[in-house]
Amino acid sequence: MLLTFLGAVREVTGSSYLLETESSLYLVDCGMFQGEGEAKNEAPFDFSPSSIKAILLTHAHLDHSGRIPKLVKDGFRGKVYATLPTIELCEILWLDTVKLMKEEAERINRKNRRAGKPLIKPLYDEKDVEISLKLFEPVPYDEVISLEDIKFRFRDSSHILGSASIEVWNKDVKLVFSGDIGQQEGGMEGTPAEIEYANYVVIESTYGDRIHKTLEETRREFAQVIQSAINENGKVLIPSFVVDRAQRILYEIRLLKEQGVLSNSIPIYFDSPMGKSVTEVYRKYSTLLSGELQKYYLDSQDPFDIENLKYLSSVEESKRLNDLETGIIIAGSGMCTGGRILHHIKHNIWKDSTQIIFVGYQAQGTLGRKIIDGAKSINVMGEEVVVRAKIHTINGFSSHADQRDLLKWAEGFQSNPTFIITHGELSSSQAFSQLLRLKGYQTLIPLKGQSVDLLKKEISEVRPQLPPIDWDSLISELSSQISTLKERLSNSSDMESFNLLKAVSIILREIIKNNF
Ligand SMILES: [Zn+2]
Ligand SMILES: [Zn+2]
Repeated sequence: MLLTFLGAVREVTGSSYLLETESSLYLVDCGMFQGEGEAKNEAPFDFSPSSIKAILLTHAHLDHSGRIPKLVKDGFRGKVYATLPTIELCEILWLDTVKLMKEEAERINRKNRRAGKPLIKPLYDEKDVEISLKLFEPVPYDEVISLEDIKFRFRDSSHILGSASIEVWNKDVKLVFSGDIGQQEGGMEGTPAEIEYANYVVIESTYGDRIHKTLEETRREFAQVIQSAINENGKVLIPSFVVDRAQRILYEIRLLKEQGVLSNSIPIYFDSPMGKSVTEVYRKYSTLLSGELQKYYLDSQDPFDIENLKYLSSVEESKRLNDLETGIIIAGSGMCTGGRILHHIKHNIWKDSTQIIFVGYQAQGTLGRKIIDGAKSINVMGEEVVVRAKIHTINGFSSHADQRDLLKWAEGFQSNPTFIITHGELSSSQAFSQLLRLKGYQTLIPLKGQSVDLLKKEISEVRPQLPPIDWDSLISELSSQISTLKERLSNSSDMESFNLLKAVSIILREIIKNNF
């Protein structure tokens, strides 16, 4: 069995692993790159999509599921195994992604048309999502499923609703993918399942170098920030992942109201076109939530229902919040890479009465990261805006295990497995690797494209099965651009274009020299 790392190595996003047995190819996750590596989403896959037999999907977050519709567009027609909540959340997230990508492409194309530049296309559309949704095959937790030459079992990883760690057996090797792992205590989905046996464990390390504050400390911190924000009479912006973190924040706000910290006169807005439907999925699968939350349902109450909460789905409703003096606004995306939060940031971050509370991980290269790193001014939606708002970071509501919880989960294995550390920035993966080594485990922090032979325990280079390259259309595209240029430039004395073209000509000469 050969395992190849296609993403989320030495970075957090883009989770995807290629699993190659004697007779078949499988993928575990097929996620999007977000932040710095975003451009990689457009790149062709390092294998032929139609050759993949099936995908095992750990959970719905886009950095794990977001490239599945592209894989389908490029020819994948196998099954996608996932839990029922994951399937329902993917439908909501993918359709929202299509909408955002379409709007973004239209915005860019308006400029490109004016500049005479070629038009761009979104990564995929509704049709691709529609086909992708038909490929889903629901799997319950804890049931062993046989599929040709592998067997697998989904276990509850308590990260978000429906999230899973996946155990995979092939011949006499057992490999476990942690997926994203939730906290040991205080998580909305209870405690992650303990797995006792494996030869290899691919483990996430988002917070491999950090310890979260306790739940009590986090709740106290949240209450203080909210209280001081109310005293300032300004707006409170909470950029949040719409799946899970937003429901967590709704529940925490409900608790503040129950304790009398927050009065009913403060309006609360969940500004997201998918906010309501995601919260509905959480209600529907309430039996997968922790005991603390289930108690509400036992009393015929709803932990996510708050007085004075409004779900805003239309853009007009969202824009009306510009005139709002004070109130709490929860909006996506969590890392400020897109979505409605951008518009609220643009209109409010320059005011010193605004408070922004970050409640989730901020990947390198994202706007959220720039703000928490102390940027004095930021570029948001093409406009330079000064940062005067008060910025707070509260990590304790994270749906990710911290270093201590990761170690506890890892030490649940009784078989002394080798840990392959992924899904973390390098410093975080290294810190966690060091800790595991001190405990006597073997570890590996793989490189992108690297393969591990799980039977021989050998590290080898990846053998890419690249799709054939269409040189003909590239060359004819170039020729047609050159003829257009020739016509336009014949009577012009544009020195800048002349120098740029000269540089292009030198590059072309280099390519010809190196290839022939
Ligand atoms: Zn996740
Ligand atoms: Zn993740």
